[in-house]
Amino acid sequence: MGETESFACHVPDLPELAEVLQIGLKKNYADVQVSVVECPDLTQEPFRFPVKGICGKARIADVGGVPYLVPLARLDKIYNINAVAKEIELPGAFILGAGAVSHRTLGENAELILSVQAAYGDKAAVNGSYVARISPAGGGCVLEKYSDRYTDCDFGLLSNLYASRGEPGKVIQVSASRRTGKENFVSCMRKTLESHYGDKPVGMGGTFIIQEGKAKLHIMPPEFSTCPLNTDEDVNLWLKFFEMRAPLICQSVFVSRDPGFDLRLEHTHCFSHHGEGGHYHTDTTPETVRYLGYFHPAELLYRIDRPKETHTVGRD
Ligand code: ZN
Repeated sequence: MGETESFACHVPDLPELAEVLQIGLKKNYADVQVSVVECPDLTQEPFRFPVKGICGKARIADVGGVPYLVPLARLDKIYNINAVAKEIELPGAFILGAGAVSHRTLGENAELILSVQAAYGDKAAVNGSYVARISPAGGGCVLEKYSDRYTDCDFGLLSNLYASRGEPGKVIQVSASRRTGKENFVSCMRKTLESHYGDKPVGMGGTFIIQEGKAKLHIMPPEFSTCPLNTDEDVNLWLKFFEMRAPLICQSVFVSRDPGFDLRLEHTHCFSHHGEGGHYHTDTTPETVRYLGYFHPAELLYRIDRPKETHTVGRD
C-alpha cells in the first residue's frame, strides 16, 4: 500500500469549534446556526449509513493523490478500505469520504462516494458506498449503489477519508442557508479554521445535506485521458460538469492547513436517492440554498502512499 506517515491534529473542544464556525460561516451565509448536538441516527433517512454515528477515535486518511490521476493515470494504484482501516489502527472503522473507483474492479473510471464499515474479525465489511459514472448512452449521470454490482472494498488513485468507530455521540451540527459570499460550504468552514487556528492543523469529517437548491458537481469520464493533463484548464476540459438538484447527501473531509504532507485540503462527494451524485464544487442557487451537516474533529491524520512527485493541478 505504500508508506504511511501520521501526525496529531489540533483538537479544539466542540463548544469552541461551534463558536468559531458560527462566526466564520456568518460571513458567507445569511442564516447560520452552529451547535453541539447528539449525532442523529445515521442509519435513518436520508443517510442510510451502515452505522449510527461518526464518533469514536476519529481520524483522517489521505490516500494516494491527484498526481496519480494527472497528468496521466497510474492504473497500478489500487487500495482497499479494510487495509486502510488496519493501517490507521482502527480495524472495523466506519469510513466515509471522497475518492476514485478501482479501475481493476469497474473496468473504467468513476467517482466513489464512500460509506463503508470495514471488516472486523470474522465480520464482513458493509459497503454502503455509491458510484457516480458517465452513462455510455447519452453522457448523463448514472448513480448506483456499489454493493449492487461489486463485492470488494477497493478504490483507486486517491481518496480522502474520515474514519471513526461509527458510534453515537456529540457532534457539531451546522445549519446554513442563503449564501452571501463566494465560498462554498466546505471551503468556508476550512478557511475559517485556518484563519483561527493558524499553523495548528484542525481536521474534520462528516456528512451534510444540501436540502434546497442546486449544486455544481463533476464526474470523471470513464476513460482516462491518453494525452497528459498538465493544467487546471486541461483537467476541467476532461471532467464532465453537471448541475444537480437537492436533496444531495455529501461525504466531506477537510483539513485547515497542510503541515507539509502534500494533503488535499478538502474533498466532498455527494449521493442522492434520485439518481444524481458526484464531486461537489459549490451550490448554484445562493438565494435558496440550505445546508445541514454533522461534523466531528479528527485526532490523527494518516498520509498513505503520498506521491513522490507532486504538483498543484486538479486540486479543486
Ligand atoms: Zn472528487
